[in-house]
Parts: sequence; C-alpha cells; structure tokens
Amino acid sequence: MMEDDPRFNAGTGSYHRIDGSIQMDASVMLPGRFGAVVAIENVKNPVLVARDVMEKSPHLILAGEGAVKFARLMGHEHYNPETEKSRKAMSSTLEKLADYSNMEDRITSFRNRVDFKKYLSADTVGAVSRFSGRFAGAVSTGGASPMLPGRVGDVPIPGAGIYVGDQGAVVATGIGEEIIQHSLCFRIYERIGEGSLQDVILDEVSGFKGPVGVIAMSSREEVWHANKTMSTGLFSME
Ligand code: ASP
Repeated sequence: MMEDDPRFNAGTGSYHRIDGSIQMDASVMLPGRFGAVVAIENVKNPVLVARDVMEKSPHLILAGEGAVKFARLMGHEHYNPETEKSRKAMSSTLEKLADYSNMEDRITSFRNRVDFKKYLSADTVGAVSRFSGRFAGAVSTGGASPMLPGRVGDVPIPGAGIYVGDQGAVVATGIGEEIIQHSLCFRIYERIGEGSLQDVILDEVSGFKGPVGVIAMSSREEVWHANKTMSTGLFSME
C-alpha cells in the first residue's frame, strides 16, 4: 500500500538515478528467513518481488536484470513507477550537478560537488509487525537522491536497513551509506532486552551525521525515533 502511494520514495514515486533510470531496493525478513531485490526496475511492488525471492527462489537476494526477469516469471508485470513529482525532483537534482550533458560529467560533478548532508533526501517506507507472536519486517525504497546508477543502499542488506529475529523486528530509514557503516538494525536488535528499546535506539543513532529514523518492536515495546520528520502509524488488531 505504501509503495502505491506516490508521496513516498518507494514503488510509485521512487527517485531517479542521475542517468534518469529508476532502480529500487526492497527486502522482507522473518526470523531466519530473508528475501531482497536490489536495483530492480519497472515493477510496481518491489517488496512483493522480495517476498517471492524469499518464498519461491533458492536465493536470498536478486539484483538488476536478473531480479527483473525473476519478477516477470513470478507474474509481476512491467510498470513504470515514474511520477510528475519524481521527474521534477530529478530535474532539480541535475541542475545542482554542473556539466551534466553526459554521464561521465555527471559522475565527476557528483563526486566533486555533492554535499550529502545538504542534498540527500529520503522517504523510504518500512513496517514491522508481530502476528501470533511472530515478528516480521519489510522495507522498500527508491534510494537516497542524488545517486549513481547501481548504487545499493541499506534496504536490501540484512543487519543494515532491516533485521528480524525471535526477539523483535527493526527497520531503518536515512542515508544508506551511513546506516550500512553502523550495521544499524542488527546492533539495535542485539540490544533488545537491555533497558528500554527507545533508549537503545537513541544511543545507536546518536553519532549519526545525516538523517536517520528507526521503527522497532519487541515482545514488550513498539517504538520509533527519527532525528528529522518521519511519519509513523501504529495498528493493533488485539
Ligand atoms: N535508506 C534509503 C537508502 O539509502 C533511503 C531512505 O531511507 O529514504 O537507500
């Protein structure tokens, strides 16, 4: 549902890469089980393809063209996730990158000029759940703009943007590069039970330079924290 909402940077409305392509990452995790797609193009719901990787393939992660071919085999039809808003965001990003008439210039300009703290934006979507006492997590993104084609963020990397085990579920949003360097979700997961989960999250993100947000649940707590604006919702069927 969140991937279908164009306000988010996941599925429909995902950001473009600086070559104009849209490559999305998504993953799902259950205790001891994982599935992810990396830099997948032209599908409506990357997270459902990630679930198919987990449930119907012998692998854990599929990337690029292979991921797209697998998606088609599983019945996910061709879909262009681009929106007017994402096109506008790309134009404004490219304006900030001087000399962008060809890809080589864009890459040079990108490397020399991008101030990550200033330019990077987020809006990844994620969910954690507990159903019949069992935890699950899912996360999906169009990436953190601006980015090179082929760039992989934290979302499809277990332990970085997602971690789920018997003790709980944790997913993150923010600058993938920084989240991967901290193995953020695994570190938080490992500390479940050590005082309040909220305090653990605050402690783990305290050294972050860029924007970061986490949602997490254990058998005792459902918590979230972000160092910038992050929408959250809580739904209970009990
Ligand atoms: N974490 C995502 C990435 O770096 C971006 C986001 O959270 O919005 O790919």
